[in-house]
Amino acid sequence: MASLIRLYRRLNSAHTWIVLSVLAPIGMVVVSSLMLLDLRQDAWEKADQTSKNLLQVLERDIARTVELYDLSLRGAVDSLHAPGVAQLSPELRQLVIFDRASTARDLGVMIILDERGDIAADLDAVPPRKGNYVDRDYFRVHRTRGDLGLFIGQPLISRLTGERMLPFSRRINKTDGTFGGVVLGSVKLSYFTHLFSQISLGRAGAINLYLRDGTRVMRQPYVESDIGKNIADAPTFERFVRENSGTFVGTSVRDGIERHYNFTRVGDLPLVLNVALSVDEIEADWRLKALVIGGIVLLLCGLTITLSLLFSRELRRRTAMQAEFAKLSKTDGLTGLPNRRAFEAGFAEASGYHGRPLSLLIVDADHFKHFNDSHGHQIGDDVLKGLAQCLSASVHRPQDLVCRVGGEEFTLLLPDTDQAGALRIAEKVHAEVSTLAIGSVGIGAGAVTVSIGLASVTSTQERDTSLTDLYRRADAALYEAKEGGRNQTRCAAMPVASAAAQKRLLQLVSTS
Ligand code: GH3
Ligand code: MG
Ligand code: MG
Repeated sequence: MASLIRLYRRLNSAHTWIVLSVLAPIGMVVVSSLMLLDLRQDAWEKADQTSKNLLQVLERDIARTVELYDLSLRGAVDSLHAPGVAQLSPELRQLVIFDRASTARDLGVMIILDERGDIAADLDAVPPRKGNYVDRDYFRVHRTRGDLGLFIGQPLISRLTGERMLPFSRRINKTDGTFGGVVLGSVKLSYFTHLFSQISLGRAGAINLYLRDGTRVMRQPYVESDIGKNIADAPTFERFVRENSGTFVGTSVRDGIERHYNFTRVGDLPLVLNVALSVDEIEADWRLKALVIGGIVLLLCGLTITLSLLFSRELRRRTAMQAEFAKLSKTDGLTGLPNRRAFEAGFAEASGYHGRPLSLLIVDADHFKHFNDSHGHQIGDDVLKGLAQCLSASVHRPQDLVCRVGGEEFTLLLPDTDQAGALRIAEKVHAEVSTLAIGSVGIGAGAVTVSIGLASVTSTQERDTSLTDLYRRADAALYEAKEGGRNQTRCAAMPVASAAAQKRLLQLVSTS
């Protein structure tokens, strides 16, 4: 219990409070920082998961749609080569060729071009509409290469309908394997617009569909001028092509916005799809939370520091006040000398050092009453102050203790000082006092005198002398000095060794 109280006292210091006021806010900052980092990671994981899911759904939808349209193209090529088809009437021929053609609303045009690029069959018209497509990239590519399979061309505006389309085409071979034309289907770009527009990705989020050569097919949010742009040289696009699918944070070449990209190749088609979320928007909610939590934590830290500082200041003030009170309780208010209590404490300490001499001088002003009566109490006080200065000036060792123990009675406690030394101090006191004068009221030098009673114990003496004992002897000597005519010092006779000490001395002699 006592050790607990000691621990409490030691901790209840200004220093401890300052340390706590630093440690507590540091702890708060560390914990809240960890929490905020965790929240930030959550925000990123959520964003990543959302865009991954979206990407997967969109990619499947596009791949399925393209696959469906490709089936239509294959069906048309197969039907063309079916026996007897060439001999059918145009109406029947059209029905047979496009028998498996999808009638989905997003299918643009579907036509068959002969080897010269002219329309040979048209899903929407019998006889077919007129047109020549020899200049189109897909036509030229199929004409020169026989191994392409499904080819997806550059987004374009249909010559037949005026709508924006993405063309899908397959080569038609003649029976001898030479180039016999192209079957062309197309998906309206509005299909992608509809598909993407159902998804909200924030103000700066985007969905992009590219051809593998870097041409942008569609972008959400839709801006007409974006379609057909080639960004093959952009570092982001190089990564799309190089890695097939993945995730990274990069800066868009289009608008310089930093985005988190989730990208993938669409099936095994030459198409790249990405879902891009703005980094700013991913972190927006988190930033707001961080701002609020950070603000509150800083406020609490500030409050803790302020309160702790105030508390430690108050504690310091209280400690200082206690020290001041302790000092005042041991100080005489008039002369500023230590008082009787301080004298008693000083004596208790000095008497603890055995084997060293100790002397006590009791100094009493002579006929002091006379100064009060003739000059008034105030001047009496001034004389007392003067006397205090004279006494202080008479000693020079730090351990010498000068006290005012009564009205006009002072003591000089002189540790490590034998009777001869104490006598020299007494002489010094008389000499100092003889110079004391208060000219303003006609008290000249020599007018104030003191009587001194001196008592000592030597180093060899048994130190069982009590304070009252020493004081009593010095007081008796003082009485003698008064009796002897004042303004003088009298020494008390040395005390006789105690019975116990005498016994010990005798034992020592008999054994030696
Ligand atoms: P003696 O030589 O025998 O010591 O004569 P004395 O007059 O000094 O002794 P006495 O004990 O008769 O008188 C002491 C006087 O000291 C009485 C008191 O009025 C005065 N005195 C005590 N304390 C103070 C004080 O704080 N201020 C003043 N001005 N006088 C004080
Ligand atoms: Mg006196
Ligand atoms: Mg007196």
